[in-house]
Amino acid sequence: MKVLTLNFLTCAVKACKSSSDSFPLHPKDCELVSDELEVNSALLTNVLTRVDWKALTTTAAELGFPTLPATPPTPEELAGDEKMLKELHTLLMETQINEGKLVCGHCGHEYAVKEGIANFLLPNHLV
Ligand SMILES: [Zn+2]
Repeated sequence: MKVLTLNFLTCAVKACKSSSDSFPLHPKDCELVSDELEVNSALLTNVLTRVDWKALTTTAAELGFPTLPATPPTPEELAGDEKMLKELHTLLMETQINEGKLVCGHCGHEYAVKEGIANFLLPNHLV
């Protein structure tokens, strides 16, 4: 699963839906893999308009990526900053979580990621 996916996932436990601690889920013991893809700045710019930047900043830090700026770069800034473009491309487009866990910051439930697929099925007592 792409790192970007973490920006759209929240804990599936009902009691966590209303908690801001359940987003983003926190990667733990993750094995990352990287696909080399050509930089597509138009696509990246488009993706950046949809992401929750604060959550992305958290995810990037937890995965050990270079610290992101406090606010997302504007399309103009991105076009003029080769280094930022490459870093965001690597983080959002190329990097995938292959194995590991995604942990909810509210209930502590750990979702397993195996062979790039996160398992969001909950045990019966949590549904
Ligand atoms: Zn939860």
